[in-house]
Amino acid sequence: MLSVPYTPETPVTFATILSRSQQGLDAPLVRVEVHVGSGLPAFSIVGLPETVVKESKDRVRAALANCGFELPAGHITVNLAPADLPKEGGRFDLPIAIGILVASAQLPPGPFAATELYGELSLGGELHSIRGVLPTALQGRRAGHAQIFPASNLAEAALARHGRALGAAHLLEVCSYARGMRPLPVAGMPIVGSAVATGMDLADVRGQHRARRALEIAAAGGHSLLLIGPPGSGKSMLAQRLPGILPAMTEDEALETAAVRSLDGRGLRVDEWRQRPFRSPHHTASAIALVGGGGRPRPGEISLARNGVLFLDELPEFDRGVLEVLREPLESGHIVISRAGRQAEFPARFQLVAAMNPCPCGHLGDPAANCRCTPERIAAYRGRISGPLLDRIDLHVEVPRVSTADISSTQPAEHSAAVAARVAAAHARQVERQGRANAHLEGPAAPGAVRAHPAALALLGSAMQRLALSARAYHRVLRVARTIADLVDSDTVCAEHVAEAVTLRQLDRRVAGTPISV
Ligand SMILES: [Zn+2]
Repeated sequence: MLSVPYTPETPVTFATILSRSQQGLDAPLVRVEVHVGSGLPAFSIVGLPETVVKESKDRVRAALANCGFELPAGHITVNLAPADLPKEGGRFDLPIAIGILVASAQLPPGPFAATELYGELSLGGELHSIRGVLPTALQGRRAGHAQIFPASNLAEAALARHGRALGAAHLLEVCSYARGMRPLPVAGMPIVGSAVATGMDLADVRGQHRARRALEIAAAGGHSLLLIGPPGSGKSMLAQRLPGILPAMTEDEALETAAVRSLDGRGLRVDEWRQRPFRSPHHTASAIALVGGGGRPRPGEISLARNGVLFLDELPEFDRGVLEVLREPLESGHIVISRAGRQAEFPARFQLVAAMNPCPCGHLGDPAANCRCTPERIAAYRGRISGPLLDRIDLHVEVPRVSTADISSTQPAEHSAAVAARVAAAHARQVERQGRANAHLEGPAAPGAVRAHPAALALLGSAMQRLALSARAYHRVLRVARTIADLVDSDTVCAEHVAEAVTLRQLDRRVAGTPISV
């Protein structure tokens, strides 16, 4: 292949290759400029951090040599412009290598006009996959550019429905393409993939009628949920089944979610791109792991859970400071990360599900377990969750130990599909009425906006006094009641809907001095 000569009409010493950097979900354009000048042989890269430069130089040099090319004699200068953009090294290997080959007249420049190049090179010239392909492909399509990605990233690029995204597995394939000897495969249609994770059906959950009901309400209105129960009662099992009963994501929502996942170190599993995410960080997770950050800001768990579920098991065990940082994104739906003068904004519209034991030993109220937790210790344990955070959780519900009758029951439990159908209908009502889920109604839920009957408001007023509900809790109850009404296709929020919503705020009762009974 190298025997096919390319002879430029005039001597070439300069080349510009397009690529993109990664900044939050943004992928700003980068111009990789390569100049081959006279002078002593040297190879310098400017516009990248020092350590990244060293590694990239070594890889590019070795890959070119192992593919039978020679570094041109002379002074090679590579400039990545603009200089002030944050840049990660690996993805620029391919544009740098191709830039050198074009600037030294070993490849024609034509095939790389209006074409963006991406890929980390192995020493042998193989192209290794990069992170953040989907946001890059979306922006490349908008710019009207062709794009060449590592072949292993092509399925992800296909999600952007970019008809001019190409894949190459090796540097030599890109060279053959440039010489018109061999076309590169084009990204096809996005793979369909299943919208629901397999093996997570509500039919597996025995008993727990109240908790199942709360899960359905949470799904229908987008409400946050706290499950309180002893170990082994099925709190995690219930939480894991929430994504499976949520309404299917629109294509735009699925793309938004996939774009954030694409920035994660573990990368995007393309066959799962239509599945709502379920993220369950451990209680030892740091604030950065939870909300995002780092030198090159990465999305945290709250952003990776975008349009899906963030499950915090053992809620009181989380560092209180870590939990407090959740308050703002819970309200605003996004998070801004500032670091060393740079800002990255990530979406963070997630549904919070938390779980906790009823007491430090976990067995409060279980006659067989002999819980000896004193009221003081129980209060201290629950007090680890701050009032303001608790206020922001719409539903608190008990998940008692499953009874022997429920375990041995031959009555089949309802399947997720049946619950999902009711949820979808209730969700559709909300979208038609107000364009969003009830949990995302802005500001105080005005009684007019939720169409509450006077009797419902009277009941809520007295419950508020009796349980010493905060103003925030009042509006949350009203929104939950709206969802309960939507589940039965009722235009008006009636007293019975409010009554049920109030019973689903179990932890508010302790404020009024009534201990939680499990
Ligand atoms: Zn206990």
